[in-house]
Amino acid sequence: MARYTESSCRLCRRENAKLFLKGDRCYTDKCAFERRPYPPGQHGRGRRKFSDYAIQLREKQKTRRIYGILEKQFRKYFQIADQKKGITGENLLFLLEKRLDNVVFLMGFAVSRNQARQLVNHGHILVNGRKVDIPNFQVKVGDKIQVREKSKKNVGIQEAMELASKRGGLPQWLEVDANNMEGVIKAEPTREDVRVSVSEQLIVELYSK
Ligand code: SF4
Repeated sequence: MARYTESSCRLCRRENAKLFLKGDRCYTDKCAFERRPYPPGQHGRGRRKFSDYAIQLREKQKTRRIYGILEKQFRKYFQIADQKKGITGENLLFLLEKRLDNVVFLMGFAVSRNQARQLVNHGHILVNGRKVDIPNFQVKVGDKIQVREKSKKNVGIQEAMELASKRGGLPQWLEVDANNMEGVIKAEPTREDVRVSVSEQLIVELYSK
């Protein structure tokens, strides 16, 4: 499967924003973006003027990178969002938020979306009692997400749950029972629930050209 090979921290610096791709490190002063908050490369610190297109492109790239999605799949999400009723940009964000790997991350079972994707891929996560190893699986209201019984002693998951408090609480559409390492999708997400810093309208403008 295709995947990113560039350093995660380099991606943050390129997008000029903290994308929180490395888990615990992102919340410490070891964060590369905190130390060098400018794009990588020889001209990284230079003053540059960006065209509208460049701004829209960067916003799309930033969003893709936050959720760890390749271009082809991201465009597919956009097409689905565009066909749905409602505001296309918000629909797009909701599709991204409802990916199983994102929900596993939000529920605190993983320190990053990357780690969450691995947990799902490796079969550590159950949805309504059945193993689901597809990170892009779309959750729906009422779904119960659980860490598999055998995986509850997994040190990585336990550490992630301890660190989850640093991330500032749970969005309202989710509920978590930390003792039992499980959670429920209580409602559809709203725009206020989406905590990633993204201007979705710029992405809509980019793809509407
Ligand atoms: Fe980005 Fe995290 Fe690296 Fe900081 S530590 S630059 S937030 S991936």
